[in-house]
Amino acid sequence: MNKQRISIWGSTGSIGTQTLEVIREYPERFEIVTLAAYRNAEKIFRQAQKVKPQHVILTGDVDSAWKSRFEKVGIRYFSGPDALINSAQSGDEDMVVNGLVGAVGLVCTTKAIQAGVNIALANKEVLVMAGELIGRLLKNSHSRLIPVDSEHSAVYQCLQGERSESIRRIILTASGGPFRNRSLDELNHVTVEEALNHPNWDMGAKITIDSATMINKALEIIEARWLFNISPKQIEVMIHPQSILHSMVEFIDGSLKAQLSIPDMRVPIAYALSCPERWELPFGSLDTTKFHQLELIPPDMDRFPALKLAYQVLEAGGSAPAVLNGADEIAVQAFLEEEIGFMQITDCIREALNRHQKTDNPSLEQIVAADREARETVRDFIRSMK
Ligand code: MG
Repeated sequence: MNKQRISIWGSTGSIGTQTLEVIREYPERFEIVTLAAYRNAEKIFRQAQKVKPQHVILTGDVDSAWKSRFEKVGIRYFSGPDALINSAQSGDEDMVVNGLVGAVGLVCTTKAIQAGVNIALANKEVLVMAGELIGRLLKNSHSRLIPVDSEHSAVYQCLQGERSESIRRIILTASGGPFRNRSLDELNHVTVEEALNHPNWDMGAKITIDSATMINKALEIIEARWLFNISPKQIEVMIHPQSILHSMVEFIDGSLKAQLSIPDMRVPIAYALSCPERWELPFGSLDTTKFHQLELIPPDMDRFPALKLAYQVLEAGGSAPAVLNGADEIAVQAFLEEEIGFMQITDCIREALNRHQKTDNPSLEQIVAADREARETVRDFIRSMK
């Protein structure tokens, strides 16, 4: 069997480490080309000693002594933000697992697509910011985009062997996060520690806060719109607190398919690596005797204003989704640093959207500029609140 040449972006993060756990089950099937991360040099060094990649990239500011440490163990090391873009452009691998968090993944993903590399995408912000542009790039490339996000992986699995004209609607499920049953007043007093404590999923800090505000689901609605090239009107959300049923597709004949599995990101990661095949995994199976406990509840749009924002920015189109995304990144960071309250995260996003002059059919540069402007607006807004 030919080994799959694979690179992992964000290898020290939640998706990256879980991807390495999947690969550890099938080491004979993979050759690791590049491990890339932001600045956790110690951790990526330990990973590199185990999986022996050809290259290691750290995009952040790290001690220059690391270069010789990597070279001593026979690994080429590059640093700085351009190193990842250059690596993406070279198209050295068959597949990239993009587990980066936020807007930083956008430019290098476009380069990898242009180089014809398949992308297993966990970095949903790429599609949120530039869904239309990514769609155009994919049309002119051999590259395939395979979702890693559990909901989108579920939809992707339900759509195997189906035609897109047969889709009536897509129903994304949402756990509702840790504050599903809190009143608006209680939500005003949520602490960072409470918000970081997700009931079902083990994820990074940014996405855990996004799950608590439901902005994560807003990003996922936008992600689904572009990934499956479907009208926003055909995308719905249901609250499903158990995180077992990962999403569903209803077809024009009234049939509905769903994908269920344990809430473990290694399952959708493995599917992205193996599809259309499936590989045996040792991570557990579902207890079907407990299925009577599974709930599906329509969301209260007033308590989850984030969902409305998703449909609004899709309606506005152009650069608006990139503004939502950039504003959220700064607002979440400010919440984690206890500069703003939990409910102010969505206020910041609304402010950035109100102040933004939308650009239609934005180029990559215009999307990056809209992102930068949204971040500035939110920083100003937070300063003005103090
Ligand atoms: Mg998800």
